[in-house]
Amino acid sequence: MTNKELQTLGITDIMDGTSTGDNWFAQGERVTSTSPVDGRAIAQVVSTTKKDYETVLKTAEQAKKKWAEIPAPKRGEIVRQFGEQLRELKPILGKLVSYEMGKSYQEGMGEVQEMIDICDFAVGQSRQLYGATIHSERPLHRMYEQYHPIGIVAIISAFNFPVAVWSWNAALALVCGDVIIWKASEKTPCCAIACQKILAKVLQKNQLPEGISSLITGDATVGRWLAEDVRIPLVSATGSTRMGRQVATTVANRLGRSLLELGGNNAIIVTPDADLKMTIIGAVFGAVGTAGQRCTSTRRLIVHEDVYEQVKIALSQAYKQIKIGDPLNSKNHMGPLIDHQAVRTYQEALANIKDQGGSFLVSGSVLKGHGYESGCYVEPVIAEVENHWEIVQRETFAPILYLIKYSGDITQAIALQNAVPQGLSSAIMTTNLREAEVFLSQNGSDCGIANVNIGTSGAEIGGAFGGEKETGGGRESGSDSWKAYMRRQTNTINYSTSLPLAQGITFDF
Ligand code: NAD
Repeated sequence: MTNKELQTLGITDIMDGTSTGDNWFAQGERVTSTSPVDGRAIAQVVSTTKKDYETVLKTAEQAKKKWAEIPAPKRGEIVRQFGEQLRELKPILGKLVSYEMGKSYQEGMGEVQEMIDICDFAVGQSRQLYGATIHSERPLHRMYEQYHPIGIVAIISAFNFPVAVWSWNAALALVCGDVIIWKASEKTPCCAIACQKILAKVLQKNQLPEGISSLITGDATVGRWLAEDVRIPLVSATGSTRMGRQVATTVANRLGRSLLELGGNNAIIVTPDADLKMTIIGAVFGAVGTAGQRCTSTRRLIVHEDVYEQVKIALSQAYKQIKIGDPLNSKNHMGPLIDHQAVRTYQEALANIKDQGGSFLVSGSVLKGHGYESGCYVEPVIAEVENHWEIVQRETFAPILYLIKYSGDITQAIALQNAVPQGLSSAIMTTNLREAEVFLSQNGSDCGIANVNIGTSGAEIGGAFGGEKETGGGRESGSDSWKAYMRRQTNTINYSTSLPLAQGITFDF
């Protein structure tokens, strides 16, 4: 990525990572953002201190009332303008996502498209923040419910979707009348700075106050300030289950609300009636896309014994064709892992698979040599394992696909699919209607996402996104997810000349 391209997005060598709009400041330590693509430093970002944080909170509190008073469709108009800016900047912002995070340019562009899509969705939603009208049991009374802005929404985001996940929260929270404070991943601060700059310009052009959208940068310590802060009624946190457990406990302790989008351990069930061509494409994209660093990446393939050998052969042939290298080169299928720590986690997982009795259908290691200088490129792996093994039960954020054999009917496969602590995404490959319906039924998949003849990754923004169990239970993006960003109020109005009590209670004096 050239310096000129970075400058177009407002990225310079050293940048303040705290902002209350287009006002940038920070007094903390400098953190270097390094690209996993080529190992080069992109920029140094000055982290947020506690003092900077207090300034951000004060400014957000001041902006909160003004923003909430602006009619929702007018707030939608601001989000529409933001979406327009994103349309203009899509190729270059997509490139930054690819360069700083390491996903393919196609996927980087796809992430920005997701931002545009959620902006469009939120604009429409801004005219549909409906509450119900309820018939009162008392004569000449009227009841209804309405949704008010909740106030300040904190957004803690993960490195792997450095812009899209923030925008899911931001676009909806903004039309709902909330002000937002974003604690981006310390691994992708430049993406966050670029997005905040784009939004801040739109807010400034519309003469809106500072503090409607703020950005803070730093590691878990900065995230903890948000979780602990009683001034923040809603903390939306995306990341590992370990992080979610800490955030949830802290927020619950002060009786605040948290919206959690945590780890997955996603499986595709391959039945004897599966279309194997589609299955292989779906499984390979799901397992190696984004180098296995999607929350919805395919981690487990649960294959019926009748087609197990066929699937094995087809998979090992497909893996031979995977090209690994610079994700900005469209010829490559798979880019790097995010950093050296992620590479160590991959290596440890491979050792664990071996220790626990697994065998490798496709083995892998860390790549060295020309084009791999960053030290973050690894080969994708397929291992034959058993579902209950400790290593299979946990999410390893790397391109490792587990092959698990099942026999018997579809209920056996569903039992294996559900027998993990996480519950994000799941899929079945079958042309058998009965199997598909059992998989989708109340006793079928226990995940927040259940697909038929589609892989586990690549959700659209129109549906509610999220998962059960250790995935945290939150729902973001489409459907009625907007309700999480508002507080509901029930109103009862008496237009009679007496005061009847509910449940027929009499109280005379
Ligand atoms: P991570 O948990 O290490 O960090 C996520 C964010 O939380 C970062 O901004 C980090 O600074 C912050 N954080 C960490 N500990 C914290 C604490 N105790 N208090 C407050 N903030 C804290 O996750 P990661 O490595 O950046 O991302 C990968 C993980 O995210 C995977 O588990 C993946 O499945 C998950 N993820 C889930 C979804 C989803 O929608 N379910 C989407 C994307 C990523």
